[in-house]
Amino acid sequence: MATDTHLWLSTALLAASGISIFLAGYVLLQRRACCSASIALLLASSAVFGFGYALELGSGTLESMLRWIRLEFVAIPWVPYFWLLFAAGYARGRALGRLPAALLALPPAIGSALALAGRVVPLVFAKAWVRNDGPFPVFGFEPGPWFFINTAWTVLALLGGFTFLGVASIKAAPGLRKQARLVLVAALAPVAGYLAMLADLVPWGLDPTPFTLLPIGALFSLEYMRIRLSGLAPAAREAVFEAMDDAVIVLDGRGLLESANQAARRAFFLDDGCAGRPLAEIMPERAELAALAEAGQGRLSFRVAGREGGGNEGDDAYWSVRALPAVASGGKAVGMVLVLSDVTEDERLLAKLRELASTDELTGVDNRRRFFENARHEAFRASRKGTSLAAIIIDLDHFKAVNDRYGHAAGDAVLRESARRLAEGLRGSDFFCRWGGEEFAALLPDTALDGAVALAERLRATLELEPVHCLAGTVRVTASFGVAAGVPLSSSWLDQLLGRADEALYRAKEAGRNRVVADKLEGPILPPGNGASGSVASSDPVEPSA
Ligand code: GH3
Ligand code: MG
Ligand code: MG
Repeated sequence: MATDTHLWLSTALLAASGISIFLAGYVLLQRRACCSASIALLLASSAVFGFGYALELGSGTLESMLRWIRLEFVAIPWVPYFWLLFAAGYARGRALGRLPAALLALPPAIGSALALAGRVVPLVFAKAWVRNDGPFPVFGFEPGPWFFINTAWTVLALLGGFTFLGVASIKAAPGLRKQARLVLVAALAPVAGYLAMLADLVPWGLDPTPFTLLPIGALFSLEYMRIRLSGLAPAAREAVFEAMDDAVIVLDGRGLLESANQAARRAFFLDDGCAGRPLAEIMPERAELAALAEAGQGRLSFRVAGREGGGNEGDDAYWSVRALPAVASGGKAVGMVLVLSDVTEDERLLAKLRELASTDELTGVDNRRRFFENARHEAFRASRKGTSLAAIIIDLDHFKAVNDRYGHAAGDAVLRESARRLAEGLRGSDFFCRWGGEEFAALLPDTALDGAVALAERLRATLELEPVHCLAGTVRVTASFGVAAGVPLSSSWLDQLLGRADEALYRAKEAGRNRVVADKLEGPILPPGNGASGSVASSDPVEPSA
């Protein structure tokens, strides 16, 4: 029975050591994470410890026991050292610096040197003997000075490692917290074994440390291999995840909220209570997001009205969303990542750009491009409804003379003031633009020729009646107006309408300026009522009212 027990123990330890050495080699070859070297060396030093202890247990004599103990003590002080290095690397996402790593290596290096020099007795063990109180012979000892130093070093290194892991597991993203806690709890097993040994709680003076150390080491390396690249740097991934400007929402395979970074939590008011709930429930007003997540991948954008988005009151927020499947190392989709970018600033710039691209810089009214956009739209609308659309083209009279006499700056002021008065004289539904130089154009929906002529006449009067006061003096300004109207019939109709208004303007100039002239042409451009009667459409200038 006695022989059986120690045979079983030795065999188990030898097997575990062999597996650990194999795993250490594998992890070292992979070298995928910052802490792969420390895991490998932690495994290797544990394996040497386990191997030595297996053979120590098999020894019958003190001499043979001490030979194996010497080997064990070459490796033992390195176990806490590599544990500390692993924990620091795992928690911080990058390996410990060279200088601190070298300084921390001093105690284990001295311990190893003492063992190699054959000074285990009396430095580690003051006295050594064979204990025969158990079922098989076991090493008995009285601790020596280095034993205490080694114990102190081991406890400090273990505590250091646990501190790193503890902090990492608290600060980790919810998705990684579980893993960090698992590492933490698993690592407690060998520590418990070590403390039990120190407290002499184990029967027959056996050391349970290698029995717990080797399986836990194997567990770590298997976990490491499973997640490889991604898993072992929670601190680094966490920092990037949390610090991202983009809001990131992670859903698990069932579409339940797994985690959300700070930007997402802030922007969409997600709290701890949201974890594990479906998106449609957490953000009921964003049904399109849940649909996107369900679809598996794609993009969308949405607008959050000012108050809802929590931004400056009345300011809307714009979000652009990208959905990506979260793929595990095996290639299997295990969830979904929604990356939401706040594109509010882009949208604002775009709106500003659109505004700039469609306004006339000097007068602030629409430019010709915007006018045509609106005009095409209106022409289409009028043709569908069969209503009349009118155009007025306006040209300031003798404007070159204004420039020549008062200067270009005064000319600009007159242009601005004229634009203001003309725009003000129109209805809200009308369109108005600076046509170019000292020319303006207006488009009047639902307006027949007589109505447009009457309006043009009023506009003409607003310019004529009140001179423009500017720094250079008081400038009298008048303008000539060409008016045309009709029901849109074809795609080229708009150009025809404007062409006819322009022709009418030409005739207003010819007839002496400061007057309104209506298009004189009959035909498809005129709505039946006006065109047939000919009472308003006329080649004769409409004389300005005094
Ligand atoms: P008409 O009655 O025949 O229209 O005579 P006009 O002098 O108004 O016509 P013309 O086409 O000969 O001259 C237009 C003038 O408008 C010439 C140009 O310098 C001036 N002008 C065009 N754009 C601007 C501008 O942005 N600012 C100023 N100050 N003048 C401008
Ligand atoms: Mg002109
Ligand atoms: Mg002119």
